[in-house]
Amino acid sequence: MIPFEYRRAADAREAVATVAARPDAVFLGGGTNLVDHMKLGVATPDMLVDVSRLPLTEVEETPGGGLRIGATVRNSDLAAHPLVRQRYPALARALLSGASGQLRNAATTGGNLLQRTRCRYFQDVTTPCNKREPGSGCAAIGGWDRHHAVLGASELCIAVHPSDMAVGLVALDATVHVLGPDGARTLPLADLHRLPGDAPERDTVLAHGELITAVELPPASDMTRRSAYRKVRERASYAFALVSVAAALDVDDDGVVRDVRIALGGVAHKPWRAARAEDVLRGAPAAEESFRLAADAELAAAEVRDGNAYKVPLARNTMVAVLRDLTEARR
Ligand code: SF4
Repeated sequence: MIPFEYRRAADAREAVATVAARPDAVFLGGGTNLVDHMKLGVATPDMLVDVSRLPLTEVEETPGGGLRIGATVRNSDLAAHPLVRQRYPALARALLSGASGQLRNAATTGGNLLQRTRCRYFQDVTTPCNKREPGSGCAAIGGWDRHHAVLGASELCIAVHPSDMAVGLVALDATVHVLGPDGARTLPLADLHRLPGDAPERDTVLAHGELITAVELPPASDMTRRSAYRKVRERASYAFALVSVAAALDVDDDGVVRDVRIALGGVAHKPWRAARAEDVLRGAPAAEESFRLAADAELAAAEVRDGNAYKVPLARNTMVAVLRDLTEARR
């Protein structure tokens, strides 16, 4: 491992100022992803600014009835929080389907959002990777692409975003609070992560020195209380999603979809809000045929490769199954 400096920040402002002043400094949260990358030589920061003990550990109700989640709340604590379990079960399920118990005990809310792709070439410094080393090429294109993106990829990178929690949060219309050298700002969580385009080295829209301080959920509703998350993976635990679906569904007394929110994981460089599917479903009967039409509309833009073509029918069938379950649960 390459030598680095370690500092523990006293407060968020000090952490931001310290990282912003040094180009190769980074924030350290639970360390469950960053430390691995330092061991592998994927990340070579010259300073770690430890934010894991900042007083951002609260889960609080907002005046409007939503929930504000501090950035250093551990994934296990958030998954077990009574208000999360009761009001936003899709988030609790997404958290519990991520990683392992040990890792969830260490991983933070902010760090979970900023974890990097598990593309095997990104983690192998002997192979070309535009995300790790811009301009070097992409070993996954024409290589082992079984876990890679079918939506929104570019000719420079076909990696997928690994977080389960982020998929649940996007479906729940969460926002993220950020503190930077120029002050605080808030953005929709759906806009935090970016597609690879011509700059796959950038996972998010955050500038250097910007620190996630909290995530906020809008007020709960009957729809969010019945939200769901389903993850399809290659083994029962400790595996990333091949495909995942977070959804919330509101159906009126006549069986017509009043509102719906759907997000997909494992299919793109960011948690994928299925806006086309939502548009098809609003005002349609809450029935299998509508669900299939909606899934087809969302996946019409999919581009597949030799190893990942299975993701399209898998995403389609998982979307349909989750929506069907949500419909049956309200009866
Ligand atoms: Fe790197 Fe992206 Fe290609 Fe993976 S898919 S090797 S992360 S450029």
